[in-house]
Amino acid sequence: MSTLRAILLPSGRRLIIVARTPEHADELEAQLTGGPSLPQMAQHALAAAGRVVQAVAAGKPVLVSAEVNAERAKVCAGCPLWDAQARGGLGKCNHRKCGCTALKAGLATERCPLNKWPA
Ligand code: SF4
Repeated sequence: MSTLRAILLPSGRRLIIVARTPEHADELEAQLTGGPSLPQMAQHALAAAGRVVQAVAAGKPVLVSAEVNAERAKVCAGCPLWDAQARGGLGKCNHRKCGCTALKAGLATERCPLNKWPA
């Protein structure tokens, strides 16, 4: 079963893509758009900051262990949506619901938008 998705290109034009799966659509969208826009990334960063504040207020851990961080980073390194060269080597997830750097993998409050990270 294929997936249809309407995407907005950086030029402002809209495009309908047909992909094999939702994950394939994510990959195609990332390739065509270069990842989420700056306003989208700002929105995601604000939401992430809010989750950190909530965790601190609730007394929950904010950081994962070094082992979990390394496991997550390894998964990202093998993901087609990961751009290791972006942001001066900090890397960037080009999924439309992300746009984060490798720093995200160290936060207990964050999840991979495709649930690829180990639980
Ligand atoms: S957070 Fe998930 S979707 Fe993004 S690069 Fe890492 S594994 Fe891929």
